[in-house]
Amino acid sequence: MRTKLKLLFIVTLMLLGLAVATIINVSLNFREYSVKSALEKAEMAAKTVEDGLTAHMVNGIMDKREYFLEQISKNDNIKSLWLARSNHIIKQYGEGFNSETARDAIDKEVLKTGKSIKKIEETTNKINLRVTMPYKAITTGNANCLKCHDVKRGDTLGVISMEFDITDMRNTGFITILKILGINLIFIVVVLLLINYYVTPYMKLFEDLQEGIQKAYSGDFTHTFTTKIKGEAGKAVEQLNTLFMKMQEAFGEIRVNLATFVTERAASCNDPLFEAKQVINELSDIYKFKKTIELDENKNIIYKRIIEVLKSKFNIERFSFYEIDTKHSTRKLIYATHDDLKDICNTKHIDADSQKCRACRTNSDVISTDFNDLCYACCSNNIHYLCHPFQINDEASLLISMTTYDPNEIARLTSYMPSISNYLEAAKPVIESNILMDKLHDTSLRDGMTNLYNRRFLENFIDKIMSQIQRSEETYHVMMLDVDFFKMVNDTYGHDIGDKVIVDLANVLRNNIREADLAIRYGGEEFLVMLHNSTDEGALRVASNIHKDFGKLRFDVGNGESLHKTISIGISKFPKDGDSIWKCIKYADTALYQAKNTGRNKIVEFEDHMFDKDEY
Ligand code: GH3
Ligand code: MG
Ligand code: MG
Repeated sequence: MRTKLKLLFIVTLMLLGLAVATIINVSLNFREYSVKSALEKAEMAAKTVEDGLTAHMVNGIMDKREYFLEQISKNDNIKSLWLARSNHIIKQYGEGFNSETARDAIDKEVLKTGKSIKKIEETTNKINLRVTMPYKAITTGNANCLKCHDVKRGDTLGVISMEFDITDMRNTGFITILKILGINLIFIVVVLLLINYYVTPYMKLFEDLQEGIQKAYSGDFTHTFTTKIKGEAGKAVEQLNTLFMKMQEAFGEIRVNLATFVTERAASCNDPLFEAKQVINELSDIYKFKKTIELDENKNIIYKRIIEVLKSKFNIERFSFYEIDTKHSTRKLIYATHDDLKDICNTKHIDADSQKCRACRTNSDVISTDFNDLCYACCSNNIHYLCHPFQINDEASLLISMTTYDPNEIARLTSYMPSISNYLEAAKPVIESNILMDKLHDTSLRDGMTNLYNRRFLENFIDKIMSQIQRSEETYHVMMLDVDFFKMVNDTYGHDIGDKVIVDLANVLRNNIREADLAIRYGGEEFLVMLHNSTDEGALRVASNIHKDFGKLRFDVGNGESLHKTISIGISKFPKDGDSIWKCIKYADTALYQAKNTGRNKIVEFEDHMFDKDEY
């Protein structure tokens, strides 16, 4: 309503200004008119007096003039009227019976100059108009002044002085001004009432709009606009309500959808559009980040990328980045922006026992502003810290320890934590599979003779690998291979030749599979090959190549003789044939058994009828 009051105030001021201007104008004109009309009256009275006196003189009844003058004085607001003779007349006829001499300086001045003087004297309660006019010697008609007076024609014979009371005129003017003022005030009140009547609904609508838009700015589009105004404004309000309803629905959906991508967000602003833009930007950055690290060679390169993000995207100046071995409770420093950070966090002791690190032990953020001496591992009194642990799996975690000397900086760092967590969350599966890959290189999981993975590897890791691939709907073709009539090699040519056959078969396998595939020495001369994300044709081709390549090998058995051997292969498909990898290994073995039983030296694909699933 402040706008309406402002509008009414401005209109009032304008109308009042107009009224004042009118009043000033009217009063000035009125005064001018009053003075002018008083002067006209004075001139007429003076002329009447002059003519009357001349008539008295001509008729020889000059001694009767007093009556005439008294009658004149009674009229026309004439306050006083007197005559003053010039020196010529006084000399010739004396001062007259009423002492008609000059009464004041004005009389004397007019007698001297022969020119009229008109003067207004104004006090707080009276206005007087003083008019003094000369009467002069004339020689027209019956009136020939020169006959009786010893003067020349045109000489001043005397003056007629009159004082008019024109106070009434001022009062009349004052009443007129009051009337104008009254009319103006009535006009102003009427105008203000009309404006109030017509403007109020628009003002209410305006306030309603303000309220609705204010709510919309903070993401709330539930406001319903109302107005009593009909026509265009009413229509616009209806359309606005429809628009708000649609916006409410759309933003609701966008928010829910975005929340599924980014689980946690930093303190969001009140503008949902801006928030959506920020979330989408962040999603895009995280997507690029994830795509990049997926192709990285090892986890150390991924760690470097995370460190780069902390530095360049979040502008974190001082931090240390650790890897925690949860099983052995050890902590390893991967990177520190400043050397002194190692001393601040009592590195030696904590690295040997990560349980002494509060963040590692509690697996929750440790923020120095929460409590004095929150983490006893911190060796500095004037430093502030925010330590954020992040669990990769049961065996490994990461720890980002951010420090600052500026207490206000902690609030900024805290506000970044949800976004940093989103990056770490994106990196988690990639780091996890890298950790797994590192473990796969462990020698205890490999067969000493062929350097292929051994059965222990299969038992320890196949479930972990499978749980990873099942999440991303990947496939494996499982091949079980066995050398045909191998016992005979041992029996005939000895174990060394037998070993040679096994080693050479392992090399054939290695040469025919890709990095993502797995080759395992399953038993004596029995091998398991798992082809990652292959087509059925592709898997058959690999099996066939292995079969052929091995068949081409010639083993020197001494005495210039050589031996060649064949293999049988059974193939099953995961998850097409069985929903667990162990089942598929079993099915591949079944297919191999089928190959052995039907003449050996062949490749057989598993079919359901080969295995009685109810029996198993
Ligand atoms: P089949 O065609 O049915 O497979 O007949 P086979 O003679 O190959 O029979 P089987 O697969 O059961 O033979 C396995 C033999 O492999 C038994 C064992 O003496 C031999 N063996 C197992 N490990 C080794 C090894 O490390 N070196 C050598 N030289 N022989 C091994
Ligand atoms: Mg065999
Ligand atoms: Mg065998």
